[in-house]
Amino acid sequence: PATSLQDIIAHAKEYGFVFPSSEIYDGLQAVYDYGQNGVELKNNLKTLWWKAMTQLHDNVVGIDASIFMHPLTWKASGHVDSFNDPMIDNKDSKKRYRADQLLELKAEAYANAGDEEKSTALLQEMGRLLGNNDLEGVRNLIIAEGIKDPVSGTDNWTEVRQFNLMFSTQVGSLAEDASLIYLRPETAQGIFVNFLNVQKTGRMKIPFGIAQIGKAFRNEIVARQFTFRMREFEQMEMQFFVRPGTEMEWYERWRDTRMKFHQAAGLPAEKLKFHIHEKLAHYANAAVDIEYKFPFGFREMEGIHSRTDFDLKSHQELSRKKQQYFDNDIDEATGKPYGNYIPYVVETSVGADRLFLAVFCNAFTKETVGEGDQQKERTYLKLHPALAPVKAAVFPLVRKDGLPEKAEEIVKSLRSEFRVVYEERDAIGKRYTRQDLIGTPFCIAVDYQTLEDDTVTIRYRDTTEQIRVPIGELKARIGQEVSM
Ligand code: ATP
Repeated sequence: PATSLQDIIAHAKEYGFVFPSSEIYDGLQAVYDYGQNGVELKNNLKTLWWKAMTQLHDNVVGIDASIFMHPLTWKASGHVDSFNDPMIDNKDSKKRYRADQLLELKAEAYANAGDEEKSTALLQEMGRLLGNNDLEGVRNLIIAEGIKDPVSGTDNWTEVRQFNLMFSTQVGSLAEDASLIYLRPETAQGIFVNFLNVQKTGRMKIPFGIAQIGKAFRNEIVARQFTFRMREFEQMEMQFFVRPGTEMEWYERWRDTRMKFHQAAGLPAEKLKFHIHEKLAHYANAAVDIEYKFPFGFREMEGIHSRTDFDLKSHQELSRKKQQYFDNDIDEATGKPYGNYIPYVVETSVGADRLFLAVFCNAFTKETVGEGDQQKERTYLKLHPALAPVKAAVFPLVRKDGLPEKAEEIVKSLRSEFRVVYEERDAIGKRYTRQDLIGTPFCIAVDYQTLEDDTVTIRYRDTTEQIRVPIGELKARIGQEVSM
């Protein structure tokens, strides 16, 4: 049977990858904590991204901007006025829903019943109404479609209201003039407001990019599907500044580069696809998502957007600080330098938590091994060795005769290179199983022969094959496999 999201959630919790936040108080909706293994996997993914974006491109540098920003930032970016979701409440159950999601579910139901035409027509009508901000029209459509609240079973709906997704808080004490500030809903704006700081201090020449990894916050109303949609999450974003007119070329290049990244991280091509946006956000002139096939279907994992000069231009207007770049390259058409302009921006934006979930789901493997009476189920995480939380586990066969000491010696010789653990509890088969469940690619066993000839066995996670190798070769062998 196919892996369900419930299997994934259970495994993530049981083996120290992801816990519900403040679980002793019954958790907090759409907020999660990464455990001892989860944080390693997530850090490995972030390092992989950081390296792919900055180290492997000589024209992309990183920054780490604050979560709090001047409130005008969010006015300029459009988030104060239009970062909304249309909400509707059921008067009987008192439950709140995203109006667009209710309609999308209905469209999905039409499609599942084979009526593609009705499904498309409904989505188009919804798009038209939302585009015109016709909230009454949206409510009428929900009623006309006979959509009922799954909890109360009634269609006793309130009016539709826009609900801003930004969290806000006060800076300063209440006695003073406290002012309202927001927790950033995206990391991108920290890059835009630092565009000139980085360009000037780094003497960057267009085209160049600025990358950042950081927390973002959105008051998501319908927060389901585990770490796919969280209220506190992490984004890995890169803004690439280009000369106006060259943005489509860069947009296509980054789109392809980013797709290759996901495949290199071990996600299979058939579980990835592009989804081109027909309806564009107010700031974009082209947009595509990279979707991954999660257990609940193909969903957005990363967005690649051509954002024009929308952000820099509106920051220039609100801050009254020029956001221009002087381009002294020669324009062949005029024979003169391109001169001053506000650059265009191509953005790549991926959620670290969604990438984590995709990689985790893809790695989760259940296999039947053995024949006849010997058949059994085997569960393991087939993670790329570079991403695995633990690279190698070292086991003494027995807890005596100097085998533990020999195993500890091996751990010490490897641990400055990779994350290695020592395990002596339980039978060796159980120890292999425990490592399989967290995705450790190599298990090293120390036995009596080791004391004679300084060789150990390496057992490979995916094939369970074991080979005998000299201790002196371990570092090179494992090192080769855990690099990317
Ligand atoms: P969605 O339509 O799923 O809400 P979005 O189009 O609003 O996503 P963007 O604003 O483009 O998302 O954000 C870029 C990336 O940030 C997304 O592709 C996703 O990986 C991640 N992301 C956005 N919202 C969340 C969230 N609530 N939880 C986890 N990751 C998120």
